[in-house]
Amino acid sequence: MSKPIVATTSLAGCFGCHMSVLDIDERILELIELVEFNKSPINDIKKFTKKCDIGLIEGGCCNSENVHVLRDFREHCKILVSVGECAIMGGLPAMRNGIPIRECLEEAYLNGPTVVGNEEGIIPNDPELPMLLDKVYPCHEIVKIDYFLPGCPPRADLIWEALVALVTGDEMKLPYEVLKFD
Ligand code: SF4
Repeated sequence: MSKPIVATTSLAGCFGCHMSVLDIDERILELIELVEFNKSPINDIKKFTKKCDIGLIEGGCCNSENVHVLRDFREHCKILVSVGECAIMGGLPAMRNGIPIRECLEEAYLNGPTVVGNEEGIIPNDPELPMLLDKVYPCHEIVKIDYFLPGCPPRADLIWEALVALVTGDEMKLPYEVLKFD
């Protein structure tokens, strides 16, 4: 019997949620038996090669590339899961939402305490760069999301329990101890 196929991506996130997936430790061997991975930074497959059963999304959408990737996941995955606070509500990157975008760029490239070597005062504007959105959006405001796993990052046990339930069709048992909110 073919294994369920899982894809993962990181949008505007810090990869901490992916680290939490790897934190399932030796259960990673069980996971490999249980599922096949398609597009994911875990195996470095960069493009979908087939339709997937489950897509795990880390991070919200802060630019046009994030929106493109998220829509691509919605198109290729039967079930989409927002993993972690950044995907669910924008998380830390959404702290910029109350600040005009021009001010954010000036702080990052001109005025911030860590800016060095930009004597010409250039704010990057190459057309190849993804366009910043007016604010950071949670994933469910861009596409339909089927499940939400809270935490920053969600605990490895929570991700494990949810994944096993999704691939086996068992009821998702998520006791209080595996839920963590920031
Ligand atoms: S939810 Fe936390 S761990 Fe996950 S991407 Fe966001 S900041 Fe990183």
